[in-house]
This record gives sequence, C-alpha cells and structure tokens, in this order.
Amino acid sequence: MNTKTFLITGGAGFIGSAVVRELIQNSAHRVVNVDKLTYAGNLESLASVEGNERYTFVQADICDAHAMQQLFEQHQPDVVMHLAAESHVDRSIDGPAEFIQTNVVGTAVLLEAARGYWNSLEGERRDAFRFHHISTDEVYGDLGAPEALVNGESKRASSDHSPLTTHHSLFTEETPYAPSSPYSASKASSDHLVRAWQRTYGLPTLITNCSNNYGPYHFPEKLIPLMILNALAGKPLPVYGNGQQIRDWLYVEDHARALIKVATEGEIGATYNIGGHNEKANLTVVETLCDLLQELVPQEHSYRELITFVTDRPGHDVRYAIDASKIERELGWTPEETFETGLRKTVQWYLTNETWWKRVQDGSYQGQRLGSIS
Ligand code: NAD
Repeated sequence: MNTKTFLITGGAGFIGSAVVRELIQNSAHRVVNVDKLTYAGNLESLASVEGNERYTFVQADICDAHAMQQLFEQHQPDVVMHLAAESHVDRSIDGPAEFIQTNVVGTAVLLEAARGYWNSLEGERRDAFRFHHISTDEVYGDLGAPEALVNGESKRASSDHSPLTTHHSLFTEETPYAPSSPYSASKASSDHLVRAWQRTYGLPTLITNCSNNYGPYHFPEKLIPLMILNALAGKPLPVYGNGQQIRDWLYVEDHARALIKVATEGEIGATYNIGGHNEKANLTVVETLCDLLQELVPQEHSYRELITFVTDRPGHDVRYAIDASKIERELGWTPEETFETGLRKTVQWYLTNETWWKRVQDGSYQGQRLGSIS
C-alpha cells in the first residue's frame, strides 16, 4: 500500500483518537494529529501511539487560518480527516456560540487552507489528495416515534427503505437536512460548506454522516460512559423524559475503520451514511448496562434501581436510524461488533481503565494544561 500522510483534526477526541490508533497500529501511514485540546481532547487516549515515529501531535486551533496554512505547508498531507468539533448537544443548548465558531467557522478556515495547499500541488499528488469531513446523522433531524417498540427496539428490518413519512424510515444519503439543535445545525452548516467547496472549487471532498458512537475513551458526559460511571459510584442514572428516544449505536472502532475506508477508497464528492443497525431506546441501553454491570460487578441491589427520569432535553429528537447500505455495497464495509459484544467490551474497558476516567473526572488529564506543542 502507498504510504500516505494523514492530517487528522480532533485526533485527541473520542472518535479521532480511535482513527489515530487504527492508522498507527494497523497501517503504514503517517499521522499528524492537530487538536486544540479543549475539555474533550485528551492525549492520554493516545498513549499507545505517542512514541511512534509515524505519529506527530500539533496543538492548534482549526479557526487559526495562519496556523492551518503553516500546518499544510510543513506536513504536506495526502489526506485530511476533519473530526475537530464541539460535539455535545447539551453544551450546544447552553452555549451555541462555540459550536458555530469551531464547527462552522473552523471548517471554513480548514477548507480554505486545504484549497490553497491543494492548488499548490501538481500531478499525481494533486489527483490523490482528499478532504474527508466527518459528520453526524443528526443533520437529518427527527424520524419520529416508531409505531411499535419491542423490548425497546424499533421494529424494522435493516433492509426497510420505506419513505420518510412512515415511522419505519431510515436516513439515506438523500434525506433532506432538518437539524434540530444548535449542534446539529452547526454540523449541517459545515456539511454544506464542504459540498460547496467541492462544487465551486473542485476540492476533492468526501462526507460521512454517522450514528451515535460508543466505546473506550468516551468522555463521561455522554450517555453510555456517564451511566457506567454513575452506576459504579451508586449515583442516580438520569434518563431524559420517558427514555424512549431511539438512537442507532455503532462501536467506535467500527466507525474508525469505516472512516479510513471512505478516506482512501470513497468516490470524490460522495456522501456515505455509517451506522450499526442497532436501534435502541435510551432506557433499553441503560437497563442493558445495568444488567451487564450486575453480571461483572455484582451487588445486592439491582443497578436498575438507580434509574431516575429527568426533564427532557428541549427539542429532543425522538429517533435517528441510518441506512448504511451504500457504504456496505460500494466499499464493502460492515461493522465487526454487535451491540451486545461492543457494549460488553466497553463496560470491561471502563472497569479496567479506572486511571483514565478518574483523571478525566478530576480534570487532571493531559488536556488544556499543556503549552503549545508542535
Ligand atoms: P469529541 O468532542 O470527543 O472530540 C472533539 C475533538 O476536537 C477534541 O479532541 C477537541 O479538543 C477537538 N477540538 C475542538 N475544537 C477544536 C478546534 N477549534 N481546533 C482543533 N481541535 C478542536 O468528539 P467526537 O465524539 O470524537 O466526534 C468527532 C467528530 O465526529 C465530530 O465532528 C462529531 O460531530 C462527529 N460525530 C460524532 C458522533 C458521536 O457519536 N460521538 C457521531 C457522529 C459524528
């Protein structure tokens, strides 16, 4: 395989660090990880690749046009995988400005830096350059409540392609954008910018829209790690509304493998939806976690007794579900983990990596404390 240089933005985050680990551990490619190290960035998630000679870390803000231009000139990447973003919906409701700054303005700055650099390339290197923008299924909005839930699972076949107006529908690459939260609106905006740069300037871009990820190194403000750690601490497990919001869950390492496939084999200008065919109601996810913990860390009272229903999030979408048939058909990607195997691996990871999450919880992890590194 041709050895390439990958510029990964947001590589110290949850999904970005999985992409960096996958590239360093399972390919011969070089990785330049550019990350601002916000509260969500944690270099301790990259301890396993830190000393590798094919890995470089640069602390920088994607909104800094000069820094981005320098980065491209210095590292001469073949592929950009853009994951840097503000990613937590609740934070976007409390303070949308940062989301617009990083997700919209930051993406525009990065696109301009990439375009300037790409224009300076010639021949094969110019033809082979790719800009891969990583986005979310939340840009498509809300699919509404399904007609029936069986054991907290939406009743539909993964091959069901019925139109959007029915409750059995899935998001396809053609589904119109209808974002609900400041987070999803900012991601939708960034997707539009990427498409415009491809149409207008011919920049060779790709976009992926993925469903909810879970797995190791997940910041404990998100549903699954929050529930695991609260349960272990005997704290309440707060479930929004009636807990019947449905998300389509994908193990983070399956997402990382899909992203690398798209970045290296995807068609220029194309969008690929990525999902795990794992539609689950939030309450079912929490109950499953409680039962797994009961098996792995038994205690007298069921962890389920800790479940507490709290006031729903404003504008909370009821259901997201992905039709991932295009990436499966065209690029031959399928997830390796089922929800059951992935969730078990995740719980076991949190049980054996107490140092990582304790340092995240008490704020002593390698994050903003670092000075500028290049
Ligand atoms: P995350 O919040 O864990 O990580 C984001 C990373 O970006 C952090 O390391 C942070 O320090 C960095 N960052 C933030 N602002 C920056 C800036 N201005 N300059 C440079 N770096 C900056 O997010 P995640 O869950 O890993 O998500 C990564 C991407 O995947 C995001 O674009 C998100 O929208 C998308 N996505 C996430 C999910 C999910 O379930 N988590 C699903 C689909 C798509």
